[in-house]
Amino acid sequence: MNWLIPSLCLFVFASFSCTGPSAKPTETTPEQEEIAEDIIEIDTTFTLDYLRGYFQPSKHHAFVKVDPAYTDGARVYYLHRETWEAFKNMADSAATDGIKLVIRSAARNFEHQKSIWEGKWTGSRLIEEGANAAEKYPDPKTRALRILLYSSMPGTSRHHWGTDLDLNNFTNEFFKQGKGAEIYQWLVTNGPSFGFCQPYTAKGPDRPHGYEEERWHWSYIPLARQLTELARRNLTDEAINGFQGAETAPQIGVVEKYVLGINKECLK
Ligand SMILES: [Zn+2]
Repeated sequence: MNWLIPSLCLFVFASFSCTGPSAKPTETTPEQEEIAEDIIEIDTTFTLDYLRGYFQPSKHHAFVKVDPAYTDGARVYYLHRETWEAFKNMADSAATDGIKLVIRSAARNFEHQKSIWEGKWTGSRLIEEGANAAEKYPDPKTRALRILLYSSMPGTSRHHWGTDLDLNNFTNEFFKQGKGAEIYQWLVTNGPSFGFCQPYTAKGPDRPHGYEEERWHWSYIPLARQLTELARRNLTDEAINGFQGAETAPQIGVVEKYVLGINKECLK
């Protein structure tokens, strides 16, 4: 196979010229050593297909049906088994403090998120400002950015993972006064000891990109940090596809800005 010889030569030449004669042996800095010691191990269940919600939670071995006593009863909810066990412990503990945590949304797969996204994309479902996004925002990137204020692109939602939940009420205002404020304060104080963290905190210097604040959205970090790390290592904007408007994912940098644009406390 003569063609192998020139291509092999090219490979050898290319790799030699990449490292080049100027390459020096590198020494690890203390910071790098610290990171190396803290390498996150990713469970083999967590693949790129899992990350993008390409499965049915009702048929996935790692998922369980949530006890309806802990939900609003609007539909059957599913969570990763470990998330459910941690949430149940947290909700039972909250109940002893007079706080009722109510699941309003849990696992949503790619197809579910696609129906939400495309509804908003085509205008058959109004966006939060009460507008038909297809009419008001004809430019695809602008439209995608408006929808992204509160809805994920299919394939990028933390709700795919079975690690994330929406609790009690879908407005930040609810959590700023009265019983809602008590619930929120309880979660902020006690959530971390059960493994839960709020990924979408208020935007600011520490969180310049991503979704707006969502005081109702909580994430089970022992699992979610593995999936966040998998996204950081392997998920590309080009792998976000299969729905209307997907061509805007690379223009926006949806993985870097939205998937990874979370509260840094949720990475620990
Ligand atoms: Zn949510």
